[in-house]
Amino acid sequence: MTQSSGKYGIGIDIGGTTFSIGVFDANGALVDDGSYDTPVTTDADAIADRLANTAQSHADGRPGGLGNVVGIAVGFPGPVDPGAGVVKKAPNVHCLEGYALTEALAQRLGETRVHLQNDAYCATLAELRWGAGKDVENLLMFTLGTGVGGGVAMDNQVIRGPRQILGEVGHLIIVPDGRKCGCGGFGCLEAVAAKQGIIDLACRAIQSGRKTLLIDLVDGDQSAITPQVITEACRQGDQAALEVYEQVAFYLGIALCNCIVLTDPDIIVIGGGIAAAGEFIFEPLKRTVAARSPISGYDVSKIVPATFGNDAGIHGAGALAWEHA
Ligand SMILES: [Zn+2]
Repeated sequence: MTQSSGKYGIGIDIGGTTFSIGVFDANGALVDDGSYDTPVTTDADAIADRLANTAQSHADGRPGGLGNVVGIAVGFPGPVDPGAGVVKKAPNVHCLEGYALTEALAQRLGETRVHLQNDAYCATLAELRWGAGKDVENLLMFTLGTGVGGGVAMDNQVIRGPRQILGEVGHLIIVPDGRKCGCGGFGCLEAVAAKQGIIDLACRAIQSGRKTLLIDLVDGDQSAITPQVITEACRQGDQAALEVYEQVAFYLGIALCNCIVLTDPDIIVIGGGIAAAGEFIFEPLKRTVAARSPISGYDVSKIVPATFGNDAGIHGAGALAWEHA
């Protein structure tokens, strides 16, 4: 398949308050996109109308219209039943809970094939097909942000398991009996290494009374600490800030070591907003894996940043649209 096939896949990435649509050619090039407000409504059909109409208008903007669309895929920020095309839980768009979204879209878009998957699955698929993992078949992905997501690809397929939990790396238990996690468990990676866990580490450093730029950069207001502030303090050589990422990278590194022996990945891709800390997190992360996975002798140069940063959702949905073409 080449660009000249004239075919397109359409990806829809649903967020809390907005959704994005991207039109992709067979090589994964984004040829058209747009971002829109998700209707504020308790009527799931109204949301399906809006998604379908917007996808239709993007298709109409290409030669051949919907006739040249190989598939439409939705990446959803929560658990889904991909086989049935049903949203299982929708914390941000409540009315979609239990809703047969693919069927609703397919009805509105004629014969076009529609697919639904969890956004972490989609992000992993995008890296496998079009991103950092396009030359390998076995990939492990970690996405560090408000939560910790991830995915596993083996033998060139992203796998999720019969209960759709395979690859939920945010809930690997890293600190037994540690902080409570949103899932109800304790000491999950997400509880200690996602955004809030990182901010709490920084606040604890400040509260310990040690001298740190962290508090100067927010003019004394601890509630203004963000990962960006911590990264800036690192850039200025602040030891307390460097230790925050050292600790986070340690937790993450232990998770990686465990996943390496379980999945034997050719490459490990790190995405999400926290990955923007760059070497402040990658260097201690690689050091941890090198020191603590002697059985794998893992080549830590294979731990790389994700290709698709803020656009992971839309590229993921686009890759899923093409996956079934
Ligand atoms: Zn958890």
